[in-house]
Amino acid sequence: MKKTTGQNREITKHWRPATQAVRGGTWRSEYGETSEALFLSSGFTYDDAETVAARFAGEQDGMTYSRLQNPTVQMLEERIALMEGAEACRAQATGMAAMTTALLCQLQMGDHVVAARAAFGSCRWLTDNLLPKWGISTTTIDSRDNDAWKAAIQPNTKVFFFETPANPTMDIVDMTHVCGLAKEHGITTVVDNAFATSVLQRPMDYGADVVAYSATKLMDGQGRVLAGAVCSSQKWMDEVLLPFQRNTGPNLSPFNAWVVHKGLETLELRAMRQSENALKVGKFLEARVPHIMHPGLESHPQHTLAMQQMKACGPIFAFSVDGGRKQAHALLNGLQLIDISNNIGDARSLMCHPASSTHHGMGPEAREAMGVGEGLIRINVGLEDPADLIEDLDQALKAAGL
Ligand SMILES: *Cc1c(COP(=O)(O)O)cnc(C)c1O
Repeated sequence: MKKTTGQNREITKHWRPATQAVRGGTWRSEYGETSEALFLSSGFTYDDAETVAARFAGEQDGMTYSRLQNPTVQMLEERIALMEGAEACRAQATGMAAMTTALLCQLQMGDHVVAARAAFGSCRWLTDNLLPKWGISTTTIDSRDNDAWKAAIQPNTKVFFFETPANPTMDIVDMTHVCGLAKEHGITTVVDNAFATSVLQRPMDYGADVVAYSATKLMDGQGRVLAGAVCSSQKWMDEVLLPFQRNTGPNLSPFNAWVVHKGLETLELRAMRQSENALKVGKFLEARVPHIMHPGLESHPQHTLAMQQMKACGPIFAFSVDGGRKQAHALLNGLQLIDISNNIGDARSLMCHPASSTHHGMGPEAREAMGVGEGLIRINVGLEDPADLIEDLDQALKAAGL
């Protein structure tokens, strides 16, 4: 592998994020390929036994085994780190592998975590079930309430964990305040930035320590692969995350890493256009449905904060109908263009009913407490012409009696 300018951090770190998304972290083989090479290899060979010893002793750079490093995966890690403005990144098999790794690698029995109540269903499963089972206590709070973060701190609090915007209620966390509070108390903040990605929002600019991703969403953005990533300082990566990852193996496959590379090249274009489309669709729906939770609309109670933290509103928002599950399902069943699907960040417009899908496992009480009612619907607005999306929603709303 030849070093290209894409591999020289001294040069690339000055490039702007849109440039990083296309070129950051590029390595090239002796063939000078334009697109990133795909190294589907679990292991590597050596010219002599001394080289093996030097690599395992950490005295020589180079590949040893794909659970420890792989060129295609490492290129992706470099690129994501450069886009994020982070010192280090490690790719993970899925978004949930990223969240689980980011939490478990730093926690132990007796620790305490403060987590946002409004969160992706499986993130809530980690804080409600997995961590307590292993002797790590958790407090879930209304993440919009700055005072609630402070009130929940205990002497053994090690981590603050939240999403902003949150899935699917679109709650916004005041990152300057919450990350600042964490720093004062020696608490590590872990931000799940799947909804925004570094193109729309960079949590480290507001003081976050660790940024974790489902790269399945906007980063791939074309519904192809599951992937995840964790970004942090080099020190935290080397000392805290890496020993956990190298020995437990939640690694991303080189093939999936290669696909995400292709996604990142168009990430900014897609995120900006999908945000524009989401605003148009949101304005249409605002006049037609009783409740809408859309960070790009002035009717969102945290609109100003959201737009201070984000470059654009993103493709995802939620709204609700008064006729509960029956009417929400009728609306989904009436769609002719938009697909019923629980994925997000995709170039296709997708809609789902969280109470009977992504947040089903939480049970009705926890759902109501976090604002996921029976009439709530989540939409991911894609790259189609928004006029077609609005026509489809119009006829489906009519079919559902709205
Ligand atoms: C989808 C999602 C995850 C989980 O990611 P997977 O790639 O599906 O494992 C975590 N957090 C948020 C906010 C998500 O939207």
